[in-house]
Amino acid sequence: MLALEMFRSLPRHVAGKAVGARMPGVLSGYAAPLRLVTIDQPHVAKPGWARLRSRLSGICGSDLGALSGRSSLYFSGLVSMPLVPGHEVVAELLDDCEDLSAGSRVVVDPILRCQARGVASCESCRAGATNRCDRVTVGHLSPGLQTGFCADTGGGWGEILVAHRSQLHVVPDTFSDEQAILVEPLACAVHTALRAQVGANDKVLVSGAGSVGLLTTFALRELTDGGEITVVAKHPRQRELARAFGATDVVAPDHVLRGVRRATGAFQVEPDYSRPFLLGGVDVAVDAVGSRESLETALHATRAGGRVVLSGMPVPADLSAAWFRELEVVGSYGSAEREPGAGGRGAFDIALDLMDSSAVQDVAASVASYPLHRWREALDHAHSAGRLGTVKVAFDPRRSA
Ligand SMILES: [Zn+2]
Repeated sequence: MLALEMFRSLPRHVAGKAVGARMPGVLSGYAAPLRLVTIDQPHVAKPGWARLRSRLSGICGSDLGALSGRSSLYFSGLVSMPLVPGHEVVAELLDDCEDLSAGSRVVVDPILRCQARGVASCESCRAGATNRCDRVTVGHLSPGLQTGFCADTGGGWGEILVAHRSQLHVVPDTFSDEQAILVEPLACAVHTALRAQVGANDKVLVSGAGSVGLLTTFALRELTDGGEITVVAKHPRQRELARAFGATDVVAPDHVLRGVRRATGAFQVEPDYSRPFLLGGVDVAVDAVGSRESLETALHATRAGGRVVLSGMPVPADLSAAWFRELEVVGSYGSAEREPGAGGRGAFDIALDLMDSSAVQDVAASVASYPLHRWREALDHAHSAGRLGTVKVAFDPRRSA
C-alpha cells in the first residue's frame, strides 16, 4: 500500500527546529523526515483489531510540530518509528470488528489505551480517563501514545491502518467525510472546554484561532455558562469564524492586553526588558496554539488565582506569571472515553451531537484535501492555513490526482 512514512532523523529534527517555524516551505520541501513509500499493510493479529481504509485524514498542529522538530524530545519516548502519521481519521472498516460490520464508516479516537494494548487496565483507563493511560509504551503494540505515532498501527496518511474496537465511533450517514474529519478535533475541544471548568459568567480568553482555538471557542460556548469569550485571531477569515463560533470579542495578537483590559479593568505593567503583562485579567485563558507567544499571552492576561489551559502542545515559555499570580496551569490532552465534567459521557459522543451546528458545517465545507503524493503542497497549505482562510487540511489516500 501507499503511505507517507515518518522516519527518525536527529539531524533533520535539529534542522527542522532551526528553520521550521520561520521557513515552512523549506521545511516541507527538504528537511521534513517524511517520504512517500510502498509498504506492507499494518497487521495486529489480536482480538478486537480490524483493518480500516482511510477516507480522509487531517493534518494537525502536533503533526506539523513533529515534522518540523518543534515538538519536545520528551515525546521521542512515546512514539515508535518508522510511523505513518494521521490521527484525525475517517475510515471504512474492511473487516468485521466485534459488533461493527465491514463497510461501516467510523472515526477513530486515536488514543492507544490499555484495552487496545491487551494489558490490564491502568487506574486512569478504569476511570474512563483513557487520555491519561499509563500503558502507552507496553503490551502487544510498540510504544505510541496514539494511532499515527505507533509503528504497528499505521495512520490515516496511508491507504490502510488498523485500529481497536475501543477506538471506533460510527459516523451517521448524514455526515460528509469532511464533517466527520472534524469529530476528533472537536472531541479534543470538548475535553478542553470541560478541563477549563469555566464558572457562570466567567471571562475567558482563547489565544489562537486555528482549528483548535475555533472549535474550543465553540465547545466553551455550547458546554459552559461562561460570559465573554475573547478570541485572539490573526487573519480576517479566523475573525469571522471566531464570531460565528461564539466569541463576544475578537482581537489581533498585538492588541490582546488592551482588549482584556477593556473587558476586565485590569492594570498593565510594562517591564523595561520583557513583554508587558496584566495585573487582573480573565478568569480562564486557553492557549490553543502552543507557541511561546501564545502561551505567554494566556499567562499574562489571566487574573491572580485564575486558570490557564494548555491545549496546544507547548514549547518552553516564561512561567513567572504562573508563580507570581498563583495560576492553575492545567493540561488538556486528547479526550476521554468518560468525561467527568459531562456526567461520564464520552467526548466523541458529545462532539457527534454538536456536529449539526451551521458554523461547523461551514468549516467542513472548506476542508482542503490532497492526494498523498502532493504531501509537500499539503504541508505548506497546513502551515499557512490561517492566512489562506482554511481551517483544516487533510489527505485523501484514495485520490491519485
Ligand atoms: Zn490505561
